[in-house]
Amino acid sequence: MKKADELDRCIEGLRNSMPGVDWSAKVKLDIKRIVASQDTRAILLAAPLEDEMELFERFVRDILVKCGINTIVLGVGYGFEFRCHPEVVEQPALSHENARRIASVCRHHGIRLVPQMNLFGHQSFGRDKRPIGIIRAYPDMEEVGADEVTYQRCLCLTHPRLKALVCSLMDEMIDVFGTVDFHIGQDEAFEIGKCDRCKGLPVEVIYADWLNALHGHLSARGVTTWMWGDRLLNGHIIPERGAGYETSLCGTWKAIDMVPRDIMICDWHYRVLPYGHHSPSYWARHGFAFVVCPYNNTFAADQLIVAAVAADTPLFKGVFHTTWTRFAAFAEACFDLYPRYLSTHELDDYDVVGKEAPRGYKDACTFMHLFAL
Ligand SMILES: [Zn+2]
Repeated sequence: MKKADELDRCIEGLRNSMPGVDWSAKVKLDIKRIVASQDTRAILLAAPLEDEMELFERFVRDILVKCGINTIVLGVGYGFEFRCHPEVVEQPALSHENARRIASVCRHHGIRLVPQMNLFGHQSFGRDKRPIGIIRAYPDMEEVGADEVTYQRCLCLTHPRLKALVCSLMDEMIDVFGTVDFHIGQDEAFEIGKCDRCKGLPVEVIYADWLNALHGHLSARGVTTWMWGDRLLNGHIIPERGAGYETSLCGTWKAIDMVPRDIMICDWHYRVLPYGHHSPSYWARHGFAFVVCPYNNTFAADQLIVAAVAADTPLFKGVFHTTWTRFAAFAEACFDLYPRYLSTHELDDYDVVGKEAPRGYKDACTFMHLFAL
């Protein structure tokens, strides 16, 4: 199907699903204008390696600032030289010195920095689910063993020593980066309420207690909590192609009314839906501020942003572009594409679904499409 046909079909689907909305008044498909007018214009970047620090500084100055980015969420996780718990560190690890350098670059350009760490799922890596970080060092802090894991390994959220450990890690990162925002991950976690300790407890209570514990700790320090929203989306009523992944089918969604409203929800959806996205209006109905998070498909990005605009709420705070490749690959793709984009205002066709592109290029095409001015 041609992209234009697919776009028409999706807009028609959105109109049918929200018949009360005056589309002519509320939605003009000037996506760049919509993005540029948001409070939060964010990007997720993997932490740069030791020899990529100079590239990072150049990338922020010559690409991100020119594209209007005002927030960097930095995927750090266990790749940080924790002094409080060196046993959970995974290599390559960001040094304190380079973390301060990153913070300083961001401060210099007026960019908010949000360190990110997965504090529920994604506790393993690769097809063989190699354990990382906390559960590598403390196997008893894992919910269930690899044989029973649906996707990637998870923390046991009721382990009596877990909260203190996690709070020490967050504190050290916040102190070194000098930040007032922290992203606690939370995406794509399936294992909860299964171990001997947790069995029999309501899943939503386990999950709400965990979020309240992390939020309470951060909030007491004056730090805003950010998280991926999928564990709080009811996968039984919100249609998404990645049911169970980009929505919850494991009961955690019932915790939505048991957690504070001052969490910044990061609502990620990467694929086109025939009838559009319903999650933005879901967040608005439940009183959460949210940003929408596209990835590497320009059309899916437009569709998600249109749904956020159509939700017609001041709780829609902006667009948070996600990249899922190593930092240098994404940065180099942007340096390659940006001058071409400025001269033609057209993209290479890397964003067509299924077409092979070098790593980082599809993410970069969507980024240019949304942010390059
Ligand atoms: Zn457990």
